[in-house]
Amino acid sequence: MFDRASVVTPGGVNSPVRAFRAVGGTPRFMVSGTGPYLTDADGREYVDLVCSWGPMILGHSHPEVIAAVQEAVSRGTSFGTPGEGEVALAEEIVARIEPVEQVRLVSSGTEATMSAIRLARGFTGRAKVVKFAGCYHGHVDALLAAAGSGLATFGLPDTPGVTGATAGDTVVLPYNDLDAVRAAFAAHPGEIACVITEASPGNMGVVPPAEGFNAGLKELCAANGALYISDEVMTGFRTSKAGWYGVDGVRPDLMTFGKVMGGGFPAAAFGGRGDVMAHLAPAGPVYQAGTLSGNPVATAAGLAQLRLLDDAAYAKIDAVSAELRSLVGDALTEAGVAHTVSAASNMFSVFFTDEPVRDYDDAKKQDVFRFTAFFHAMLEQGVYLPPSAFESWFVSTAHDERAVERIAAALPGAARAAAEATA
Ligand SMILES: *Cc1c(COP(=O)(O)O)cnc(C)c1O
Repeated sequence: MFDRASVVTPGGVNSPVRAFRAVGGTPRFMVSGTGPYLTDADGREYVDLVCSWGPMILGHSHPEVIAAVQEAVSRGTSFGTPGEGEVALAEEIVARIEPVEQVRLVSSGTEATMSAIRLARGFTGRAKVVKFAGCYHGHVDALLAAAGSGLATFGLPDTPGVTGATAGDTVVLPYNDLDAVRAAFAAHPGEIACVITEASPGNMGVVPPAEGFNAGLKELCAANGALYISDEVMTGFRTSKAGWYGVDGVRPDLMTFGKVMGGGFPAAAFGGRGDVMAHLAPAGPVYQAGTLSGNPVATAAGLAQLRLLDDAAYAKIDAVSAELRSLVGDALTEAGVAHTVSAASNMFSVFFTDEPVRDYDDAKKQDVFRFTAFFHAMLEQGVYLPPSAFESWFVSTAHDERAVERIAAALPGAARAAAEATA
């Protein structure tokens, strides 16, 4: 299948992180998923710790989500008119996330951040955007400077195809460094439209904000007439009922969402302050649109998933995450492998270093070759990890005792493989 794919598709994949380039080998083609398990085209079963890179927070093929999709699809797949499903999903988002007064639905996280930045520029009449090295906000041209995720995985410093004019308005700063943000505002007075940050970064591995960092960003933005945009595409509806906002309570001007809110379908959103959102067409002058925005099948899936995510669901995910973190840490300690298990609520990843990781430069100093050996040993034993040392691991409400036991059984061998790996 990969040979076939490689003929008709660049690199054989439709999104670079799915390829195994960073770790070597052939990507697995999955044919079905149930609960915490995926089955590949050769009939092998894996415990899934990728969860479609975040969305599958209830596990695969959750019966109530599938039923909602079947009900919606039986009434038609797209009308290009307003519909009740998109209103209900918007109401659910507004009810959960207090700073979101109004929300616009789109089809991908990339669209959400791209539109939020356009809106921030339109609202402030300013051009410059501040972002942080190692933060990934989708493949928006202006934000593909020192981005994480696939760019971290492949060590691409930049990408051809993004013009100097586009990237020239982007100011890239080290993460967790408020002095750098202060200096940027001083260097560009009256020019910075917004600061965009991952609410808690998960695209350079998991690197949570230092105490007071997000609050400091918010304050500096307010003092300098810029908008504070919190990208919650990964953390939204995952790290708590109200995402990372529910964890740190720092009130953004605009927020972006995706992944979990689509229930496995292409649904994403951006929203926030009512006076800012009022600048969006057709209410205001900043243009933004989408043929499939608020698609009835996608919104039905997202709404069904969000309605199942109550306090008990988050308690379960947090508990499984904590259990796995201690199992992984113990196995690596036992094998004598230098490591740091880094967590932000129930998101976590393992850095193969025992030095603290506070930013992208720190993250890059880990022994990536040890991750590669660890990854393949886990895969061989039927545990599917993200094929990169720079990605978060994800668990779901479906990760039960049996799934955890299978992971636990695979860990000692994988930890030994990491210990024996050579650069
Ligand atoms: C995944 C992600 C995006 C991009 O979302 P897509 O749906 O892949 O376009 C943006 N921001 C963050 C923080 C993400 O994790």
